[in-house]
Amino acid sequence: MLVKTSKPSFSKRLSGAERSSSCYEQDRRVFLKRSGLTVAGLSVLGSLPLGGICKAEAGAPPAPGASVITRKNICTHCSVGCSVIAKVSNGVWIGQEPDYDSPINRGSHCCKGAAVRDDVLSQRRLRYPVKLVNGQWIRISWKTAIDEIGDKLLAIRERAGPDSVYWLGSAKFTNEAAYLNRKLAAFWGTNNSDHQARICHSTTVTGVANTWGYGAMTNSYNDIRNARTILLMGGNPAEAHPVSLQHILEGKELNRANMIVVDPRMTRTAAHATEYVRVRPGTHIATIYGMLWHIFENGWEDKEFINQRVYGAEEIRKEAAKWPPREVERVTGLPEAQVRHIAQLFATQKPSTLIWAMGQTQFTTGTANVRASCLLLLATGNVGRPGAGANIFRGHTNVQGATDLGLDVTSLPLYYGLSEDAWRHWCRVWDVEYESMRGRFPSKTLMETPGIPSTRWFDATLLPRDQVTQPNPVQAMFIMGHGVNTITRMPEAVKGIEKLDLLVVCDPYPTAWSVLSERKDGIYLLPACTSFEMDGSRTASNRSLQWGEKIVDPVFESKNDYDTMYMLAAKLGFADLMFKNIKVENGSVSAEDILREINRGGWSTGYCGQSPERLKTHMKNQAKFDLVTLRAPKDDPEVGGDYYGLPWPCWGTPQFRHPGTPILYNTELPVIEGGGTFRARFGVERVVSRKVMENGREVERQEHDNLLADGSFSTGSEIKDGYPEFTLGVLKKLGWDKDLTSEERQTILRVSPDKPDLVSWATDLSGGIQRVAIQHGCSPYGNAKARMIAWNLPDPIPVHREPIYTPRPDLVSDYPTLPDARQFRVPNIGFSVQKAAVDQGIARHFPLILSSGRLVEYEGGGEETRSNKWLAELKQHMFVEINPANAAERGIKDGGWVWVMGAENSSRAKMKALVTDRVGRGVAWMPYHFAGWYEGKDLRTKYPSGADPIVLGESVNTLTTYGYDPATGMQEPKATLCQIKAA
Ligand code: SF4
Repeated sequence: MLVKTSKPSFSKRLSGAERSSSCYEQDRRVFLKRSGLTVAGLSVLGSLPLGGICKAEAGAPPAPGASVITRKNICTHCSVGCSVIAKVSNGVWIGQEPDYDSPINRGSHCCKGAAVRDDVLSQRRLRYPVKLVNGQWIRISWKTAIDEIGDKLLAIRERAGPDSVYWLGSAKFTNEAAYLNRKLAAFWGTNNSDHQARICHSTTVTGVANTWGYGAMTNSYNDIRNARTILLMGGNPAEAHPVSLQHILEGKELNRANMIVVDPRMTRTAAHATEYVRVRPGTHIATIYGMLWHIFENGWEDKEFINQRVYGAEEIRKEAAKWPPREVERVTGLPEAQVRHIAQLFATQKPSTLIWAMGQTQFTTGTANVRASCLLLLATGNVGRPGAGANIFRGHTNVQGATDLGLDVTSLPLYYGLSEDAWRHWCRVWDVEYESMRGRFPSKTLMETPGIPSTRWFDATLLPRDQVTQPNPVQAMFIMGHGVNTITRMPEAVKGIEKLDLLVVCDPYPTAWSVLSERKDGIYLLPACTSFEMDGSRTASNRSLQWGEKIVDPVFESKNDYDTMYMLAAKLGFADLMFKNIKVENGSVSAEDILREINRGGWSTGYCGQSPERLKTHMKNQAKFDLVTLRAPKDDPEVGGDYYGLPWPCWGTPQFRHPGTPILYNTELPVIEGGGTFRARFGVERVVSRKVMENGREVERQEHDNLLADGSFSTGSEIKDGYPEFTLGVLKKLGWDKDLTSEERQTILRVSPDKPDLVSWATDLSGGIQRVAIQHGCSPYGNAKARMIAWNLPDPIPVHREPIYTPRPDLVSDYPTLPDARQFRVPNIGFSVQKAAVDQGIARHFPLILSSGRLVEYEGGGEETRSNKWLAELKQHMFVEINPANAAERGIKDGGWVWVMGAENSSRAKMKALVTDRVGRGVAWMPYHFAGWYEGKDLRTKYPSGADPIVLGESVNTLTTYGYDPATGMQEPKATLCQIKAA
């Protein structure tokens, strides 16, 4: 069903102009020829159906008498987490089908999920390690590759220090590989360790965590079935998360729910909406304040919820008062009646959920944007209950897990941060001396200082030494599963690649890193296997963990991530310490043991209860979990009472058998049944200076604001009010410490022999403090109010700020970006760039807003999916959507070639035009999955022979520009400027 609905109507239009993308054999041959496939290539791709996309062919049947076994894994292409059932005969993956038992996908796949077998079997995969010598790719052995790479890394470390090597990991990793990658960077001695969350949801994590405790989706895809109002702002799940639509649309039908889509584009999701709101890119905060203005004006806010569970609502009420309808319309273009209407629906027809993806996050105001969304949810009492919440759709299959496991320049695994306490915690888990770990870093200060975001790696390579706050600039990149073409300012990245001493790319496909520059040497490509060729867990967007079984052994000479990291750690000299408590047999690393180590340290986020055994049992019993609640019947002997995938937090040890938390902050459920409160992570009170009137005079007074919940608590809680996070000291005050076992007490004492009372729910390695708090009905992390004011962020309350490259320079004086500052070891000169753009009249020369997003056919940087023969059929050209009026002004025809010019670097890119009123006048839109062309030049011949993706095209990020969120380093690809002309 979903493949059908997601079949692109506009693809037909594109193919109408360019018939080669339809079902005609002759045109297919033209396409194949153009894509570099010769007759020999055709025979290699023997199963490619020459009849066109209308006809698909199954793999060969198993040999007579051969046994066929099934294995289950998770689709690698988005965070929905659809299960795939693979049929394997004699070690060969011969067939696949969607999993009907999975409560997440119930027998559905989108086109990407339906094509994953070819991700593994594709003849376009990188088959063996290669290195670039005199401009030629030379085959080498794994041993040679690791030896040479290791020697070069050690030489750079000796010469420039560990921070000059950048470890870029992946949202495609399993949880175990993500954790291992962060651990590898720690043992190497740097915090320059990041992954795709930087460019998709780092702002979500920071903004949401700073509001109510954890930076993740509060409810689940399935729970959207309970909503009466579904507000999508900044997401297009029909293309980006297709199977989630089964939950959204069934909920819409069954509940007669309102489905409001606020988006600059009339997307395929918007086509299903009961109300479509076309908004100017970059005006999210103004839109939300516009809604709040009506909500407060009409008394639609949830007063009881605010009084009990929200801090700082008065400040927001004052800020919203600055956004009357006329100002909202001036900034956003939205008429008063429409804003009032959607505000009323959201506030009064509850429960209401707010769904977002990168349409909110990828701005210089990204953190403030998502905070504004949280404020709307809080003001209307739409958090912590079924059908409500912030349903934040992550991108890649395991971007949630990779974020949780610490592939983040600001934190060790599971959000412990980088403080000495955090390092000491993980050193205890790793069973290594803190002092020896400290000795791996250039200084204690750098050990506790956030690294360089992936968005700025080339700035940290190209900028003069005195502008990068570490001993030396970045000189080497070790990249596992991350495309270069998803990062903005690609012309600068090209220069950055040329400046590096060493570039290592470990990926199933070569990726654009290998072809973009004019380098003739110094690049190594290592063939990684896909997640289908290894065991391990993944965390879907709803925080559920799913165990994927290895379907087949790694094909060709590829290796799994665990074994590659083990080889590298051995070469670098710290494998024995790093794998001290993880079984390695003949170079093969145990995924189960890595998860057990995560369990032993993952108290802060509740990654402690999901043992490999429990996760495997869930996969075997998927059919027992309810479609809406995700819960198994309580009397089931194997998974009784559990929520599917034990969504984090899953408290205590695995033996404690916490069921997981399907909805965060839900006080209607006891904590032991998956309930919770808002987290008390910002202290119990805030001291604020306020001006007050005293005897007719205004005086300044220090006031102590209580941050704990007021009269709100979980069902069954023995404390009938707010409370702080639990430590041994708090247990003692309550007299609950006597409930600890002697073994738990001894472990707590070992954690901190001098100050055991300070050992907390997050650092107690026994799990006893969590167990006791929960058995008294309490959340281990306390019970506080959510914060409408986040006083530690650059904008404590959200403030509308124009994009760096705005089409409305007239608004910049009222709504400028934040001042220039140093952030994450490099300067952020966004204010100067914005000012220069206004002064130079850039908006006159580049009058179209350029935004970007996702296609259903491809994913991420697209190398894998563009190398998949089934998917490559469906979308063969990079294109730009342009409104008919703008096209007519420029003499541009639908399907014709155009040049698009960017506002920086004299950048330009050549692609097809899709003339459509899907985009409004003044807006252009591009997908971000393409690469392999650069400024009109086809780079196909530069890929290693036979490993070039089938479909190549220009990257949108050739054209994107400067702009970084100050709290996270997030880039701004959703709103910049461009000009377009017929080619
Ligand atoms: Fe499911 Fe997402 Fe894979 Fe499509 S891409 S099959 S929606 S997990």
